[in-house]
Amino acid sequence: MEDLSHFVNGTHVKGASGRYADVFNPATGEVQARVPLASKDEVDAIIAKAAEAQPAWAATNPQRRARVLMEFVRLLNRDMDKLAEALSREHGKTLPDAKGDVQRGLEVVEFCIGAPHLLKGEFTDSAGPGIDMYSMRQALGVVAGITPFNFPAMIPMWKFAPAIACGNAFILKPSERDPSVPLMLAELMKEAGLPDGILQVVNGDKEAVDAILDNDTVQAVGFVGSTPIASYIYSRATANGKRCQCFGGAKNHMIIMPDADMDQAADALIGAGYGAAGERCMAISVAVPVGDATADALVEKLVPRIEKLKVGPYTAGDDVDYGPVVTAAAKENILRLVQSGVDQGAELVVDGRNFNLQGYEDGFFVGPHLFDRVTRDMDIYKTEIFGPVLSQVRAQTYEEALSYAMDHEYGNGTAIFTRDGDTARDFASRINIGMVGINVPIPVPLAYHTFGGWKKSGFGDLNQHGPDAFRFYTRTKTVTSRWPSGLKEGGEFHFKQMD
Ligand code: NAD
Repeated sequence: MEDLSHFVNGTHVKGASGRYADVFNPATGEVQARVPLASKDEVDAIIAKAAEAQPAWAATNPQRRARVLMEFVRLLNRDMDKLAEALSREHGKTLPDAKGDVQRGLEVVEFCIGAPHLLKGEFTDSAGPGIDMYSMRQALGVVAGITPFNFPAMIPMWKFAPAIACGNAFILKPSERDPSVPLMLAELMKEAGLPDGILQVVNGDKEAVDAILDNDTVQAVGFVGSTPIASYIYSRATANGKRCQCFGGAKNHMIIMPDADMDQAADALIGAGYGAAGERCMAISVAVPVGDATADALVEKLVPRIEKLKVGPYTAGDDVDYGPVVTAAAKENILRLVQSGVDQGAELVVDGRNFNLQGYEDGFFVGPHLFDRVTRDMDIYKTEIFGPVLSQVRAQTYEEALSYAMDHEYGNGTAIFTRDGDTARDFASRINIGMVGINVPIPVPLAYHTFGGWKKSGFGDLNQHGPDAFRFYTRTKTVTSRWPSGLKEGGEFHFKQMD
């Protein structure tokens, strides 16, 4: 069994705390590695080393910093297959999906190559008599990111690429469930030319996270994960005077209007509801058809599609739609919630509870589920299940459908399927949710826009990636300058005649 490490000052460092967590292959249920869980002392020492390296990096001109990212992009493409395989082996998602995970991170790195432009400040000529005023964006120093298991390549890159492009040193605390790809990314950043100490990967659990939150050197913390932890980290980090942005859980609704193309809507729901076993913060977990006829038509379209879904290990290549969930505990939690749905009176139209995959009996596979007639008071409606479970709630009017999405405590993503521009426009304008799809089920903004949810899905002021990331990872300094007059009086105002 492999013993993983931390990545400190450009090299792999064994854990010293004596505490470890098991890393599973979710397809087989086997423990394939141990990841060290850092102690507070280890974390503090790693942060101190980053602080030593950071000033020289901040003083490196932004174009040279961007060149490291350019090379990193080349290396990501070179190692795409290797990264995807390692990712699938620990996470369980299919290989095409794992490549998508790397790709969506890579695109943010590409955006960050524009750092020299994005970091340009502002200038006012002659703000007063002989006075100029300019603002510059400066790196914060040492910053940290705490990331979830479900996108072990993309989300670390969303965090460290802009932070490092801005001249910060970055402490990455990835999920302890799939830490190998984050370690590989750090190796590639070194190979791309990043100086040692600028990207440190520290593995760990709550102890390591708390050490980051309480360390005075750390200036800013970015988090992605579940809402209770997001809320906890936001409170503790901001109480300690840090800049903080935390992105949490989701319950994304898709509204299907009676005029929508039902085949398109059903296809969209299959991908958005069951892709990656539902372990996406932008997954659609609630379908809200408007009118019983729409609801009945949708179920009729969904059921045969769900029955055709191929669930299997990533090693099956393209021949699988989604893989196992990440741990046995995740599987148990999903099945517990499904049972609560049955007990609370929802209609289980497709029952995936007895799903079994020959040869993979110990893997963490969960069959697809479809619930109909789900109501607001049910746990399966209120809770983020994070599994292959789609719930249908029936709304009689557009306003009622809208109210489902509006009233839910989460506000990450949402979508509407309709052929009517007026309805779509009204929806986009009124909905209190951060990312909206119109006939697009998973409206993840591209790298040059920003990503972030509202309500209990996001804590803090700025979004991830896009221009907001450059605001989050820098602070503004404004200089007012006046030079004493008089020097120019003694100056020469005419071209000298050449002798
Ligand atoms: P999680 O909250 O369990 O873990 C996230 C990170 O927090 C990990 O690094 C983990 O080690 C750390 N952590 C866990 N418990 C902690 C504690 N008690 N104290 C301090 N740190 C702790 O989340 P997860 O299960 O890894 O990821 C799934 C969740 O992430 C889902 O809720 C999903 O919706 C959410 N997510 C949100 C977004 C978004 O952009 N909004 C994106 C991806 C995932």
